[in-house]
Amino acid sequence: MRNSARRGLDDPVAHQHRTQSKPRRQQRRGAARADKGPKVLSSERPVVFPHPTFGEIPMVPISVVQPDGSVREGRDFDPDYQPIMPTGAVRGDIRRQEFCRMCHVPRYFYVDIPRRCVECREPFVFSAKEQKHWFEALKFHFDSIPIRCVACRRKKRSDKALGLELSAAKRRLRDAPESPAAHVALAEAIVRLHQRSGQGKLAEALAVARKARRLSKDHAAGELSESYYWEAACQALLGKSALVHGLYARFLDGPGGGKRRATLVREAKAWLPLG
Ligand SMILES: [Zn+2]
Repeated sequence: MRNSARRGLDDPVAHQHRTQSKPRRQQRRGAARADKGPKVLSSERPVVFPHPTFGEIPMVPISVVQPDGSVREGRDFDPDYQPIMPTGAVRGDIRRQEFCRMCHVPRYFYVDIPRRCVECREPFVFSAKEQKHWFEALKFHFDSIPIRCVACRRKKRSDKALGLELSAAKRRLRDAPESPAAHVALAEAIVRLHQRSGQGKLAEALAVARKARRLSKDHAAGELSESYYWEAACQALLGKSALVHGLYARFLDGPGGGKRRATLVREAKAWLPLG
């Protein structure tokens, strides 16, 4: 609080800055610094800050301890001010907001903001409640605004996660070039990413799945059978459904148990002919 209050001290000049171009801004700020000191008295500061949405925001007196230990009097946005809100608005708690007093006015309330998603071009709402979460719980920068709808944001996040998994799998294979498990993991990462985004080298996935099988002759049989699973998934993505059945059948013949295998088994069974 003290930190941000300190920034508020230059208010009377600072607020004019918002409408000025940058070079001018720096010039003015320099000027304000030059004549600060005892000359700038709190009585000279505005007692209200007029705002088109929040009305006349009271500027309350504050004292701020300077780095050199001296105390400066100033004014800051009244944290207890409660302007009348439009219907559907959510009250903001300005004590929880982190914002630059030179550039921004605290958010005394939030209202729904209609937006259009840059990804799917569908309209969506940046809701008042969500804004409160962004700016008060997550402490997002005051200029942050979502450009994607919730569905596209979620998709983007998981695309990113799959991308990270792919690089991790590649690293793992580099570190353990003879490990069947590392080959299976890379095949899986490529297939998963491809299933979601339609991108990725399926030929590489096929190659590593087959290599896993060659390598796993002396290893655990679980990896051997899983390599069939990922090869099948690859062939399915390549549209070679004639090959898919046989490969899934070989996977299902394999040993193993556990939750992971159970999920894969369900998916593999969906491909097999009924009956
Ligand atoms: Zn979208």
